[in-house]
Amino acid sequence: MITVFDDIQRLHNPPSFIVAGKPKPLPERPERIDMLLEGVKRSGGTIVAPPAIGNETLSLVHDARYLAFMDTLWERWQRLPDAADYPLPNIHALGRPSLAPVGYPDSVVGQCGYHLGDGSCPIMDKTWEAARASAASAAHAASLMLEGERMVYALCRPPGHHAASDVAAGFCYVNNSGLAAEILTRAGKRVAILDIDVHHGNGTEAIFYDRADILTVSLHADTKRFYPFFWGYPQETGRGEGEGFNLNLPLPRGTKIDDYRAALAEAFKRIAAFRPTLLLIAAGLDISIDDPFQGFAITTADFATIGRDIAALKLPMLVVQEGGYPSASLGANLASLLEGLRS
Ligand code: ZN
Repeated sequence: MITVFDDIQRLHNPPSFIVAGKPKPLPERPERIDMLLEGVKRSGGTIVAPPAIGNETLSLVHDARYLAFMDTLWERWQRLPDAADYPLPNIHALGRPSLAPVGYPDSVVGQCGYHLGDGSCPIMDKTWEAARASAASAAHAASLMLEGERMVYALCRPPGHHAASDVAAGFCYVNNSGLAAEILTRAGKRVAILDIDVHHGNGTEAIFYDRADILTVSLHADTKRFYPFFWGYPQETGRGEGEGFNLNLPLPRGTKIDDYRAALAEAFKRIAAFRPTLLLIAAGLDISIDDPFQGFAITTADFATIGRDIAALKLPMLVVQEGGYPSASLGANLASLLEGLRS
């Protein structure tokens, strides 16, 4: 198995994010990389660095205005008088119909309110560089699949599934899974995305919501009381041509492997009906019982079971790292999942 990863991805290291209104230490820290690499090493195979990608590649899933904002944000924020150490909006361009934004401001504070979806996407001087490298890992992993690999692991960090075309949120800046899926689809693959992160993949859902050529399926902790709160409900089934091509399977907090596998089986039915030629697994490891977010109760051994269940679909698989935060079992959980997937 080939793993794709770039050391530049370590450069993003913000001090905090906002939980219940308070700054808290960020669990999406560079140490995650070492824990995940430990899991990769247990699984064997080679690790390759991706070639850099430019905005023409990122624009496959991201808005030109968003990319321009990210390219210049840090420098512009530094010029603001009496501002916080890092960009944080104090006004939000709320997206619900009664308050849909009509104007796009020139002010950097205003643009932050437009593009930063929540208090969980802190941006420091090297954040965008690291996020681009993370996306490059996903893009390169996609090209390796196109060269005929059966399974590739993209160690994407920062993660991506909460980023929409013009919004960063939930530790995510570029939608890595979405970018890889788009590259593969344009090259003729029929891609189903199975998002197993404990959080609903709202960015990925939004990017493909109107489309019938990419299936998006997400298993996650019920968002009635869990991030991202406003998306992830079963009634979100797609729109227009995309109607029927998005499936959300929310599960109660504390879900254990038996109930998880039952939901997986439901996901597989929809995936089989879609007849994909490639499965993209948005691999959040934060379903672990040891994860600080405490969503589900999946053990290290269970990860192998989940991997074996997915492998039984007998599809080429691109595994894109999403969430999964520092705990004693993070590396072992990845190794266990990869082992199951390769069975
Ligand atoms: Zn997550």
